[in-house]
Amino acid sequence: MKIGILGGTFDPVHNGHIKVAETVKAQLDLVKVVFVPAGQPWLKSDNPVSPAEHRVEMVRLAIASYPGFELSMLEINRPGPSYTVDTIKEFRDKPGSESELFFILGWDSLSQLPRWKEPKLLIELCHLVAVPRPGCKLPDLNRLETLIPGLASRLILLDKPEIDVSATQIRKRVAEGLPIHGLVPAPVADYLKQHKLYVD
Ligand code: ATP
Repeated sequence: MKIGILGGTFDPVHNGHIKVAETVKAQLDLVKVVFVPAGQPWLKSDNPVSPAEHRVEMVRLAIASYPGFELSMLEINRPGPSYTVDTIKEFRDKPGSESELFFILGWDSLSQLPRWKEPKLLIELCHLVAVPRPGCKLPDLNRLETLIPGLASRLILLDKPEIDVSATQIRKRVAEGLPIHGLVPAPVADYLKQHKLYVD
């Protein structure tokens, strides 16, 4: 079974995430994509992050109409910083799981990989699928291979989709009172409004 895993802060989940999950699922013929909201996104520790209950609920709403998408609470329920390698180990340790795991990330995140916990072990435990991010250059793959030997053979680089949406842009637009139609799924837009998230 080939399973995709999309980790993120999801503050909020947006149409970029959904499109990425759909595209990778179709291109790699995955049985499902599991969305894993970070409990403590250590790479974003300089910025305040919305409470996990809101981020989780927005993911739940966003994926409700997609039968091939699932939500995992692994990182929310695990204390301490949310390291991807620990999450992938947990997926691998599930009883009866003989799945092949594909961790999905944008080029922006790929360039940060050398800073992650145990990247060498991570690429032994799962494949990485990197998707483009408008405004973000493809990282220097030779440099990454030098820092994380073996990466090239475990990395699948896709050139689609190119969706120019970020959670930062959405938080900013909401704070400025600008519309966010087409940037997030409609139930997420309703949720943001109802809970007055990002208003200042
Ligand atoms: P922020 O703007 O707050 O940094 P974000 O939009 O990058 O948030 P995250 O939840 O941090 O959203 O992203 C989770 C993963 O999804 C990361 O690997 C990121 O690179 C990827 N991703 C997010 N948006 C896109 C997009 N529009 N295209 C491709 N990948 C994306």
